[in-house]
Amino acid sequence: MHRSDSDIVLIGSGIMSASLAAIVKRLDPGLSVQVFEVAGGLSQESSDGWNNAGTGHAGLCEISYTPAREADGSVKIDRALGIFEQFEHSKQFWSYAVASGMVGDPKAFIHAVPHIGFVHGADDVDFLRARHAAMVEHHFFRAMELTIDGARIGEWAPLVMEGRGSVPVAATRMERGTEVNFGQLARELLLWLADQDRCSIATGHRVVRVRHVGQAWELVVQCLKSGEMKSHRSKFVFVGAGGGSLPLLQTTGLPEVAGLGGFPIGGQWLVCDDSEICDRHNAKVYGTTPPASPSLGAPHLDIRRLDGRRQLMFGPFGSWTTKFLKNSGRWTDLPGSVQLSNISTLLRSAIHNRALVRYLVGQALQSMDHRMAALRGFYPMANQQDWRLVEAGIRVQTIKKQDRGAVYFGTEVFRAAGGSLAALLGASPGASVSVSIALEVIKICLPQLLDSTDGHARMKQMIPTYDEDIKRASSAGLFAKSAAKAEELLQIGQ
Ligand SMILES: Cc1cc2nc3c(=O)[nH]c(=O)nc-3n(C[C@H](O)[C@H](O)[C@H](O)COP(=O)(O)OP(=O)(O)OC[C@H]3O[C@@H](n4cnc5c(N)ncnc54)[C@H](O)[C@@H]3O)c2cc1C
Repeated sequence: MHRSDSDIVLIGSGIMSASLAAIVKRLDPGLSVQVFEVAGGLSQESSDGWNNAGTGHAGLCEISYTPAREADGSVKIDRALGIFEQFEHSKQFWSYAVASGMVGDPKAFIHAVPHIGFVHGADDVDFLRARHAAMVEHHFFRAMELTIDGARIGEWAPLVMEGRGSVPVAATRMERGTEVNFGQLARELLLWLADQDRCSIATGHRVVRVRHVGQAWELVVQCLKSGEMKSHRSKFVFVGAGGGSLPLLQTTGLPEVAGLGGFPIGGQWLVCDDSEICDRHNAKVYGTTPPASPSLGAPHLDIRRLDGRRQLMFGPFGSWTTKFLKNSGRWTDLPGSVQLSNISTLLRSAIHNRALVRYLVGQALQSMDHRMAALRGFYPMANQQDWRLVEAGIRVQTIKKQDRGAVYFGTEVFRAAGGSLAALLGASPGASVSVSIALEVIKICLPQLLDSTDGHARMKQMIPTYDEDIKRASSAGLFAKSAAKAEELLQIGQ
């Protein structure tokens, strides 16, 4: 279905567009909303369950979120605190979506699973102890357990310890971790949206151009079935096209876009379907990030629940690609994105990041034996015949002129034309913080939706702590109450 104009148009049907569209429509039920999706189905790219790790990122096990060691040996945890708080916003909104019937059974998209940080070697053991000491001081992480006893780690994650020699080991565990099927969640939110008055979703429609005309935006959209080009006008555009966002931004002619470049990084998983092995692992076990690898590279061994079955997943392995999207991308995406205005940014980035480029090429050239060796760092007794290699999603890291060749792996909201257009740059920590990203877009581009008493009250219903700082010690009680309520509704409580 396709309208010729709307108050809000969203390009792409991943978790970012789904979250923003659903929240905006709840804030103002009178708004007309249009979603365009190039694929034949909804949320098939990075948000689909097989294309990401499904980790509800909350800083519980991701050692890379707390990398800095201070001169006194302590560990900084600010980034982990920020991501934890953002994930609370997500859980609050999802629990509201369940309670209000926007989505169905929470078990279809979220499960509780312990999050474990695991290290070996004396230096890393020392680091994990310091990290744990810093984290348990805060009310978010008070329940975090630490052990340096291999037998105890073997109880938490037997596969990780069986057959391991006598090296020093350490692990932290948080029982309240989660696994999320972001694709399923996005599809349910969008199906709810499609049922609302003045809302419409058109799949099989590729947006090919976005132009500012007068006070509005004009999109040129190609129907892939008929080949027909149609136009759509809207007051506000959200470019939630994942890897497809940069090429679309380049069609706008906005001065802010000049100099932006894209750097695609493919992902791959090793997957095991053997139910006897899968039944012996009930955790997400994250290790340390190998030197020179991007944040995509922190390896982890996870239990997943996809297509109604349990699987073990290990990775991600990086891979070299020139495509910006796994399903709808073309090999010409990267060369096609090179323009006079961004060629120097791209070249400088290639020179500045030689270690990263070498890492990616090395990952692409590695054999199954190399991948199994990496897996055995987590599961020493792993047998090659139990594992298969599958393609994950593609992340397109945006490179900016002002970063002088450096590549940052965070996520950033790009805002242009007086806030009438927003897009997402970057890829990490991704889907887990989609609700906070929607909040940020609303605050900076659509503040009128929150200004009225009614808008504020509606937002408080959806995300009760959206205007509170639950990181503060004095907010520990508020955090405990709101977390318990969300976890009960999502059926992930203890
Ligand atoms: C290997 C890997 C592991 C990850 N693990 C995690 C994890 O454990 N936890 C986590 O929180 N995040 C994780 N992420 C990140 C997360 O998957 C992404 O941040 C998130 O899914 C991005 O959602 P999105 O809506 O922006 O993009 P997408 O889900 O990619 O959606 C974009 C949509 O736009 C469509 N589109 C593109 N161009 C056009 C166009 N021109 N016209 C119309 N439609 C278009 C695409 O077809 C697609 O459906 C991971 C990512 C990767 C690659």
